[in-house]
Amino acid sequence: MSILIINGKVIDPSQDLSAPRDILIEGKKIKGIFPKGKSPKADKTVDASKCIVIPGLVDIHAHLREPGFEYKENIKTGTMAAIKGGFTSVCCMPNTNPVNDAVSVTEFILKKAAKEGSCSVYPIGAITSGQAGDTLTELEALIKSGCIAFSDDGLPVMNSLIMRRALEYSKIFDVPIIAHCEDSTLSEGGVMNEGIVSTRLGLQGIPKAAEEVMVARDISLCELTGGRLHLAHISTEGSVNMVRSAKERGINVTAETCPHYFTLTEDSLKEFDTNFKVNPPIRTAVDLEAIKEGLKDGTIDVIATDHAPHNYDDKNCEFDKAAFGISGLETALSLGLRLVDEKLIDLKQLVTMMSVTPSEIMKINKGSLSEGSDADITIVDLDKKYTVDSNKFLSKGKNTAYQGMELKGAVVTTISMGKVHEWE
Ligand SMILES: [Zn+2]
Repeated sequence: MSILIINGKVIDPSQDLSAPRDILIEGKKIKGIFPKGKSPKADKTVDASKCIVIPGLVDIHAHLREPGFEYKENIKTGTMAAIKGGFTSVCCMPNTNPVNDAVSVTEFILKKAAKEGSCSVYPIGAITSGQAGDTLTELEALIKSGCIAFSDDGLPVMNSLIMRRALEYSKIFDVPIIAHCEDSTLSEGGVMNEGIVSTRLGLQGIPKAAEEVMVARDISLCELTGGRLHLAHISTEGSVNMVRSAKERGINVTAETCPHYFTLTEDSLKEFDTNFKVNPPIRTAVDLEAIKEGLKDGTIDVIATDHAPHNYDDKNCEFDKAAFGISGLETALSLGLRLVDEKLIDLKQLVTMMSVTPSEIMKINKGSLSEGSDADITIVDLDKKYTVDSNKFLSKGKNTAYQGMELKGAVVTTISMGKVHEWE
């Protein structure tokens, strides 16, 4: 079966292309890319008039919750949410139950994804057994079974020697170690950013230093080992500055942030709405500006979602007891497009940060519309406005911080491995 995408403006940073083009898909692959009107006939056409056509988005930080927490999300619903949000590849964190620290769990995830998934799924293995922080997992065996990176995300690796060894292995196996930077002795008991607002609200704070001391440590260990370090969800001005100077010194570090760190500040917690409770916490206006600057100048390489779906009871309780996290897959692109609207970055940069670079970091061979690539394509109507309604989310996690907000730029079609999903 062949499909032709016509009338769209193709933006593909991987081949430095930003022009009207038709794309021909055959089966699961891109067969060719043609100037308007020069394309061959196909069995089916997809009209992308007034839309941009970009490589399918790649999320390198999502929690699909399966196995073990299927009441929050599963591979089926999580990957459906992904394609609704324009993502055709999702890398899933290992903090499931059981933890993805063994070949059997990795194989289970991949099998389930092949059977029930709507997009490509790449498991991230745990750095330590049970994410307990004391014993390294069998990294080589996990890589052979399909893990593409390692992280204890959700928890920090507090033991610096373990982190050092993980980074040494990352060099040998050429896989990223993804650091969830949080010194738990500093953050323990905290529920929001530590500062004037937390004092006023009477909520226990998490200081920026809880993140920054670990960013400093891990950059230092990365320099020591020559390993491949990727920093998850950085949220503070101090972290951005450290990553910038590490890169200037030639250290092999990459970093991601998430939409909530460049769209929200701690002031949004004043209503005690647990949908704004996230870890690391939403910071101050100064941090938000620094994160934006980091995105603009390339210090921050990737926009990831940290998609953290929860069920109703996990969030509808006292603020102190509520779970951390935002269901992010279905709003991330529109929030990223705000940066383009604000002229902070251009479309090419956004697509680079949400597709090309994430694919390169994970070495998954996605993020391109060139001939022979996988047919993973997202078609976006940049002018289409919509109001966020979590009841319409395909994710089981309705925990969004953007409920009722009007966003601009909507995914109209997602093609994952040649399969077309059209949204109204
Ligand atoms: Zn994390």
